[in-house]
Amino acid sequence: MRDAGRIVAEILALLSERAVPGVSTRDLDELAEHECGKRKVKAAFKGYAGFPYTICASPNEKVVHGFSDSTPLKEGDILSIDFGVEYRGFFGDAAVTVPIGKVDKGKQALMNATREALERGINLARPGNRLSDISHAVQSFVEKKGFSVVRKFVGHGIGRALHEAPQIPNFGPPGKGVLLEAGMTLAIEPMINSGSEEVRILSDGWTAVTADKKPSAHFEHTIAVTEDGPVILTAT
Ligand code: MG
Repeated sequence: MRDAGRIVAEILALLSERAVPGVSTRDLDELAEHECGKRKVKAAFKGYAGFPYTICASPNEKVVHGFSDSTPLKEGDILSIDFGVEYRGFFGDAAVTVPIGKVDKGKQALMNATREALERGINLARPGNRLSDISHAVQSFVEKKGFSVVRKFVGHGIGRALHEAPQIPNFGPPGKGVLLEAGMTLAIEPMINSGSEEVRILSDGWTAVTADKKPSAHFEHTIAVTEDGPVILTAT
């Protein structure tokens, strides 16, 4: 899983670098596919429950599971890129939201809060804590910043399958759910809206957008719970 995670992180870093005005999300999707081929890894999302692309590309008001397309990204957009691979039977899954050129303060604050919420959640992924300690850390932090937590989608266990038990909501009271133990591997992924938490699904059956069309951000890491604390597996 370290190897799978490192490959995810490397490719995501490359995609983030290439996400500039004028480039399309389809260009990024093709780049991700090419990079998987070079490393002889299987893209985890393509074909998953019929999902048609290598990355989930979700600009601006798209929350998660967006389809890549040929529309050029433009200055001031933010783009969430979610990407996973399977390597020798193990999965890695991560997401980042990146600014396209220069973005306004509101979008920057949303991205910063979502990234920090993920860090705060990860920090509680320790033996002896409960699963919802992670959920509560995410929710309490972003709500203090004036943002809202998407309820419809959650994080998940990960390992020999992309999605395993348990589900990891980004909201809820602390001290509930599974007791965390060393050896557990989790994909923690806050999806945070700048307006209301409400989302709807477009007619493609996949793309989640904010109901109020305000921007949304998404950060995700695959982590391991260890006796020495959380270890981020989707790091380079
Ligand atoms: Mg995930």
